[in-house]
Amino acid sequence: MKISLFFAGHWGLSVLLQSLFQHRYAAHRMYTMGPKTERSLHLLTALVQGSSYLEPRAYAILHREHHAFADTEKDPHSPAHHGNPARMMLATARRYAAFVTRRKQPESRFLGGYPEWPALERTFGHWPSRVAFGALYTLFYRRFATRRWQYLLLPLHFVMGPVHGAIVNWCGHRYGYRNFRTRDESRNSLPMDVLCMGELFQNNHHARPANPDFASRRFELDPTWQVMRLLARLKLIRLAHVPRGQDVEAAQEPLQMPARARSVIPRSEMMEDAVAATP
Ligand SMILES: [Zn+2]
Ligand SMILES: [Zn+2]
Repeated sequence: MKISLFFAGHWGLSVLLQSLFQHRYAAHRMYTMGPKTERSLHLLTALVQGSSYLEPRAYAILHREHHAFADTEKDPHSPAHHGNPARMMLATARRYAAFVTRRKQPESRFLGGYPEWPALERTFGHWPSRVAFGALYTLFYRRFATRRWQYLLLPLHFVMGPVHGAIVNWCGHRYGYRNFRTRDESRNSLPMDVLCMGELFQNNHHARPANPDFASRRFELDPTWQVMRLLARLKLIRLAHVPRGQDVEAAQEPLQMPARARSVIPRSEMMEDAVAATP
């Protein structure tokens, strides 16, 4: 029971913070917050993601490239151009590492607007920290595991961020239904995405990349957006704009996006009258 709770908690919180902090804040600037709140959220993200913490700068650059080149040969992670999820994520990991070490310079339009905290990156972004977190997870399993099969879950804690990335990037551009006719292959994989906290609404998100609510139809639920609404009500964050009632074209222009990052947002095409495809 304790192992199940630990696994579910680590999974849910890791992907929630990836969606909330690295994706919707660092890459898209869907909301703003004060410097102390930003540092607190940054630290919380590093502590929760632990072994597989992702640097917001490198994440944001990769993700902006993904939006700009979605499902073309220049997309850093597209099922259309990588043979299987493992190859796709290996290529993504190599590109991510090149941006972290600054061996690779991205186009200037992908730079800026993300949180940078060099001391934190030096602490949490390197192997000693990743191994230490891995040791803590192992100690927890040694103390509380009651069945041998539970140890099969342990490696997932070490690579949780990349596992979430693989699920979202592969399934979100391969399996599911489409609400919008976009130029890419994006899909909505689950109508109520509690598995990846809203990240599997890839089609909605590619059509309206500035909209912080990834759900677009009545039956869809985006948990991370509900958390953002709560944080905004508590005045911890300020939302860039209110999504409901805006049409697709109006939602293309973010209010708070930094000028350099704004140019990477692709323009979607018209919304289809009905859900065209089924999962
Ligand atoms: Zn995508
Ligand atoms: Zn995005």
